Amino acid sequence: MSVTYYAGPDGHGQIELAVDDPGHGYLHARVYGGASTDMTLVAGARMAEMLADITAAVLSDESSAWVRGLGLLTAERCRALLPVAQEAITLAVGGTDRYERVYVDQEGVGKLPPLCVNCNEGSGFSGMVTISSQCVEYGHHPYGAGPDARWVD
Ligand SMILES: [Zn+2]
Repeated sequence: MSVTYYAGPDGHGQIELAVDDPGHGYLHARVYGGASTDMTLVAGARMAEMLADITAAVLSDESSAWVRGLGLLTAERCRALLPVAQEAITLAVGGTDRYERVYVDQEGVGKLPPLCVNCNEGSGFSGMVTISSQCVEYGHHPYGAGPDARWVD
């Protein structure tokens, strides 16, 4: 599930964050009318740096060093970008199965099956479920349900 997020006004200054491979730990960013028209790869620890810079800009009401590199200067734009960046990074880091269980719309609450953190039982994607000796011995451990939650097939 590839997802593209937009923040800011349409046209000049709009920020695009594209997550092409959820769960693979990277995204691409672009600011329309910015320093470059190319998508910039933001991978691994750079995603945390991006989020920290955007958050610092919002809290301090000053420009973001990271965003400045893309050609965007204002804290106001960072305020529009912050919730979008949080969601995009959640998808890039956690993958679609985990993302869908964190960002749930009201119609989807309670409709997804539990997802095992060890073997991915409950995944809506074929090929995601693996064998886990821990699950065989202790049962599945559902994502987002706390440390003591378990279920057994
Ligand atoms: Zn399991």
